[in-house]
Amino acid sequence: MAKKKAPIKKKKEARDKAQALKKVQTKKTVPIKKEPMKKKAPIKKKAEPKEKAQIKFIGQVTKIRQTEPATVIEWPRAITHIHTYGMLSPFFKGLREGRLMATRCPNVKCSEKRLWIPPRAHCPDCHAEMVWEALSNPVIGKIHTFTEVVYAGTGIELSTPYWQVDVELPGLATIPKSYLLYGKPYIGMKVKAEFRTKTPTHTVLDYYWVPYEQ
Ligand SMILES: [Zn+2]
Repeated sequence: MAKKKAPIKKKKEARDKAQALKKVQTKKTVPIKKEPMKKKAPIKKKAEPKEKAQIKFIGQVTKIRQTEPATVIEWPRAITHIHTYGMLSPFFKGLREGRLMATRCPNVKCSEKRLWIPPRAHCPDCHAEMVWEALSNPVIGKIHTFTEVVYAGTGIELSTPYWQVDVELPGLATIPKSYLLYGKPYIGMKVKAEFRTKTPTHTVLDYYWVPYEQ
């Protein structure tokens, strides 16, 4: 019976409570209205407790190469390889500065007295730690042999075709490989070393050869 007919006082209290609640609710809805995403979202999604925690695909959609007889996709992969030049760092510093650096064995008892390019941290003959020596500019060499590269391997950042040249240098135990920037090579052709000092790549590509006319 009491439920059917509540006293006036209680009715008033109930009304006040309802109004107070309404005020609170109104206040609460204010920031929600400012967020268009929530405003537009359907009621069902609003009810979900952890909407922001949903897992999202953040990769790139792969391309399908073929579907028969099996599905084959193109899935690009890339990594950053952290590479140290270690004890050969002076060679690459030299290239940046426009110098060709070679190593020589300092061991007086060692039979190998010539210079090495590519450099060696240690003497291949006696294992002594090598010492550095800069070749004096201009570095003039002679083409020992050459190859036309039409299809370069992955990671060779040169436009093709290019001429890979093996160049004889006076006083060297080795015949280093590099590339001819322009011109057509022949065996015995004189070439001069040049350096990519303005925009170095910090790789062995920072030195190359150009035809040398006397
Ligand atoms: Zn040695």
